Amino acid sequence: MKKSRITIRHAISGRLRFNVNEILHAYERAVSLEKWLAQKNGITKIEVRAHSGSVIVCYKHKEIKPEQLRELLIQALEIHPKQARSSRMPSVCAMSCVKCDPSEKTKRKKQSLFDSLLGIIALTLFVGYVIIRRVISKSPAAQGIFSLTSLVSLIASIPLFRHAIADLRHGRHKSLFPFLACSILLGIAMGEAMTALEVIWILRVGMLLEDYVAEQSRKAIREILQIAEKDTYIFVNGIEVRICADELNPGDTVVIHTGEKIPVDGTIVRGQAIIDESHITGRAEAETRGENDIVFAGTIVQKGVIFIHAEKVGDDTYLCRILQLVEDSLENRAPVEQQADILAERLFKIGISATVGTLLITLNPFRAFTVMLVMACPCATVLAASTAISAAIANAAKNHILIKGGLYLEMVGKADSFCFDKTGTLTIDVPQISEIISFLADKTENDVLELAAIAEIHNEHPLAKAVMKEAEIRGILPRSHVTCEFVLGLGVTAQVNGNKIMVGNSRFMNQGGIDISFFAEEAEKRVAMGQTLIYVAENQTLHGLIAVGNTLRPHALSVLEYLRKDGVKNLHLITGDTEPVAKHLAESLGFDDYKAELLPEDKAYHLEMLESSGCRVVMVGDGVNDALALSRASVGIAMGAGGADVAIEAADIALTDSDLKRLLTLRQLSRQTLRVIDQNYWLATSTNIFGMVFGAMGLLSPLMGGMLHIVHTLGILANSSRLLTWKGDNGKTA
Ligand code: ADP
Ligand code: MG
Repeated sequence: MKKSRITIRHAISGRLRFNVNEILHAYERAVSLEKWLAQKNGITKIEVRAHSGSVIVCYKHKEIKPEQLRELLIQALEIHPKQARSSRMPSVCAMSCVKCDPSEKTKRKKQSLFDSLLGIIALTLFVGYVIIRRVISKSPAAQGIFSLTSLVSLIASIPLFRHAIADLRHGRHKSLFPFLACSILLGIAMGEAMTALEVIWILRVGMLLEDYVAEQSRKAIREILQIAEKDTYIFVNGIEVRICADELNPGDTVVIHTGEKIPVDGTIVRGQAIIDESHITGRAEAETRGENDIVFAGTIVQKGVIFIHAEKVGDDTYLCRILQLVEDSLENRAPVEQQADILAERLFKIGISATVGTLLITLNPFRAFTVMLVMACPCATVLAASTAISAAIANAAKNHILIKGGLYLEMVGKADSFCFDKTGTLTIDVPQISEIISFLADKTENDVLELAAIAEIHNEHPLAKAVMKEAEIRGILPRSHVTCEFVLGLGVTAQVNGNKIMVGNSRFMNQGGIDISFFAEEAEKRVAMGQTLIYVAENQTLHGLIAVGNTLRPHALSVLEYLRKDGVKNLHLITGDTEPVAKHLAESLGFDDYKAELLPEDKAYHLEMLESSGCRVVMVGDGVNDALALSRASVGIAMGAGGADVAIEAADIALTDSDLKRLLTLRQLSRQTLRVIDQNYWLATSTNIFGMVFGAMGLLSPLMGGMLHIVHTLGILANSSRLLTWKGDNGKTA
């Protein structure tokens, strides 16, 4: 089926994600589209991701409508027509994710690493040959413009020249690559081809090592997020038919046997199996799953045979979407690149001044050349942040934390305010029902519960899950409804046999004109004990009430205590639940402030107010009602395992197993990454200054200037790769 040109993948007020097939892998086009769209009125933030073919727009909904944004996008595509595909391919997505050909990409990546290695070996052999020749036969290699050394230098510099030309074409005149290309050409022209060759060697080793660290990071992620096997079985007309996983469709019945990996998200329709779900939930123990249980792609059947009704296949499965996020995180490093660009530009200016200064003061072109070489080699500056961030993102993924970009990793450590949603974030995924009360003489507790279950049957809200679980325990099989409507932060309505069921909080009942005042006193008592109340009504008559306990997730208190000790000034609870429940929880957990009865836009507004007062805010949430706030915060963290898809989509970071302690690991990792980047910058800058001063004084030969780079580039890579194996202490040091 051919997809339309532009489709909306996700929409929440103020934020849209479009799928645009035409920009898939069109990297240069994506950059120009982004620049063009960023200037349009009403757009507050824009991200064009060529590796996933998506455009994410944050906009002021009072100034511009989604339809207008779509029009703008179409216009932008027309103004910036298709160019030849950029040679830079997205480098991850090497997992066996159906629809993308992972093996092809992995092969390509490996091939390019192999090519680089071959190039370096050839260069090393040549340099070795020249040195041995000099030592043994005491005949230094010719270094003149027309010598073999010059020719080899020029050939080996081709990738560098390409980089330099691309930078110049894109207006990045002050980037280090053109500077370096100039210094190489100058070196050859001055009869210092050997030095030029050596600099190229260092540069290529540096780039290879950078690729290696990034590849290691990807490998680490791939190991924990392996998905479907190539072939699978579907059940057609009573027989099992073997097909390629790519050909699966929603609605198929997939048969999975012992030892196989589940390729779809769906519901078990027959059979029972012990399933290892550690990739999704992080729990090491396998779970027994049977009929009507939901299973996820990427999990493994340890024992048993199950028939699964496929609901989501291919790119739409939970794990594939998570993979997409991880892929984004490794590719989407714009802010950090910007930082490296800024630094590189500064170094460029200092480098030019230092070179010209040395030449004017000493009148010695060799000294000036040494200074130029020391200042020009960009490896260290570029590697300082990027390698540390790749390694940290991989480490986080191993810890079930998926980070969508280096910037967010950086900001979690710097944040001074944390806002927490309550239901599903601080409280457990499926809360416990503590009491059911029927208000009508002819209705039992079970009747009230069944009515609620009919309305909640498709809902993913933690309270809905609590209702469904209690119904299951009591053996109630709810009838299906005709239509239902979820009202965020309030409840749900459903139509069944011409009757209207309403299930939700007191505000929802008031809005629906249902009188609940006669129960006010009793309700208050329960609410004061910290219970959340769900009212159940049919055709404007209140049938009863369900009281739900707010059981906290393990470690909720210790996590908050840690954050406080770690310098977080504002700890806020922002919830859609009632004031007394919020107050009770806020006091028992030691929050600085709380806001209750908030609708999604109120949560987002609260964050905006905090941010406008100069705070750097992290929002932690799980539900659809948190999506807007998650996208507005400096950093949005979604509780993945039980959380809503849209929340995971809108967030910058997702925890795949909803363990709150991951927040501590994340914050510590962020700090550690910042420390490593700082150390790297210091190392790079101090060696540069050292080389510059000694070069200008004539105490460093051009060759030694180049050697200096080997030392600090290797130092930086070694320092960054410490992050691959870094282990936090889960908050013990706070
Ligand atoms: P939180 O912000 O704490 O995560 P929500 O905004 O999701 O809470 O919900 C706010 C309130 O709305 C809940 O406390 C509950 O009273 C009511 N509510 C929301 N969704 C539902 C639902 N599906 N069933 C019953 N009540 C609901
Ligand atoms: Mg919630």
